[in-house]
Amino acid sequence: MPKRIHTFIGLMALSLSLSACTPLLETRAAANMASPSASGQAIPASPSKPPLSSDDPASDPSIRILVNKMRSLDADYAPDDLVRVDVPTVLKNEEVNQLRKEAADALKALFAGAEIAGFKLYARSGYRSYQTQTALFAGYVKNHGEKEANRFSAKAGQSEHQTGLAMDITSDSVSLQLSEDFDDTQEGQWVREHAPEYGFIIRYPKDKEDVTGYMYEPWHLRYLGAKLATDVARSGLTYDEYVAKTENGGNPA
Ligand SMILES: [Zn+2]
Repeated sequence: MPKRIHTFIGLMALSLSLSACTPLLETRAAANMASPSASGQAIPASPSKPPLSSDDPASDPSIRILVNKMRSLDADYAPDDLVRVDVPTVLKNEEVNQLRKEAADALKALFAGAEIAGFKLYARSGYRSYQTQTALFAGYVKNHGEKEANRFSAKAGQSEHQTGLAMDITSDSVSLQLSEDFDDTQEGQWVREHAPEYGFIIRYPKDKEDVTGYMYEPWHLRYLGAKLATDVARSGLTYDEYVAKTENGGNPA
């Protein structure tokens, strides 16, 4: 499978490997460059979607929960149904190789779909406890200052990874790192197009930092169930905006 990565020397504007998702003590990849590609826009609706499941996971408030810089999880919140993901993983820290059962099953289906299309994906960082996030953020603040750290990492309680519903994925074509270059790879493009069919959205889209508070993260998938994920993707809104509209009684579509 040919891999195509655009690497633009001199455009390392931001420390993209140090994302909101970067797992604890991860080594920063020197080759992570910012890409000027404009291909990371809203997820297009696929004309060949499989039928959606009749049961709707989004009816469970703990599945559709919105977590962001305004809505935090309690320090003692931890899902009670974490399982180890049954897909290829990268890190030895077993905590981050977990997701909630339903999300883990959906991830396995997503990866299987990718494999049929000829792409191999890896799970890099999933569940992170409040304590893990505390240590992670403190390390970034020490090295970058709090303001900058807040652009690419989350304070404890504000990370979607604490829900057990978020997974950062990667591929060989980006050296198993978390890089914006994933957006330009065939794997990344396939994921962007098909993730909602399997219940996932790209949670931090391109050019939405003013809304989400985070830089573009083509690797960060959030599980919502296929129906809600598809609705959110078709809306063109961030999940923050979608929830705000829904709560206001408006039509999110
Ligand atoms: Zn992430």
